[in-house]
Amino acid sequence: MNIILLGPPGAGKGTQAKRLEESKKLIQLSTGDMLREAVANGTEYGKKAKDIMEAGGLVSDDIVLSIVSERLDQDDIKGGFILDGIPRNVAQAETLDTMLAEKNLPLDAVVELVVDDEALVERITGRYTCAKCGQGYHDKFEQPAREGVCDKCGSTEFKRRADDNAETVRSRLKVYHEQTEPLVGYYGSKGILKKVDGMADIDDVTSQIGEALA
Ligand code: AMP
Repeated sequence: MNIILLGPPGAGKGTQAKRLEESKKLIQLSTGDMLREAVANGTEYGKKAKDIMEAGGLVSDDIVLSIVSERLDQDDIKGGFILDGIPRNVAQAETLDTMLAEKNLPLDAVVELVVDDEALVERITGRYTCAKCGQGYHDKFEQPAREGVCDKCGSTEFKRRADDNAETVRSRLKVYHEQTEPLVGYYGSKGILKKVDGMADIDDVTSQIGEALA
């Protein structure tokens, strides 16, 4: 099964993608993670993306689509994948449609996580992850059971994203509404859009997604 998770920053795409990786044995393809890795490694793409990402803007379609295209050529995605963070605008969606058709990778569903803007700022500014295994936490909603120790792998190092500050979040939300939200209509008209209430608690959202994909 190949799916897209659609929704604003902080909607829970990454969290739910990790759960789908485990429950349905799908591979998460997060363009944000791929770009952050490129920035950390100082690659050509990374150098071009860094400042744009820190300001909360969109990296060029060419760069993002090239990175995803290369990733989709690897064998591990053959059992199914979750696109998280792409497409971000209609032009990317159209190119992605062509790319998936050429690679013979049909899209089964697009799941939209619907969340209010006010909740997103609080969710994003409080979130952090384990530096070793990537497990997600939140200052207010999800602390590790033992303070300062990752529940999943025991690491004591955590990190926060450079773009998860209140100012950048507002730019990212603006970009979402202007450029990404039109994809709801785009995929709705193709009849593959499933809406899920992303304001519900994490387990409930997971069940809703399970039902939507059943
Ligand atoms: P994310 O982790 O999905 O929130 O993405 C973090 C940042 O990476 C975004 O704010 C953009 O600057 C960039 N980015 C991720 N995916 C895309 C994409 N499909 N198109 C353009 N920029 C992207």
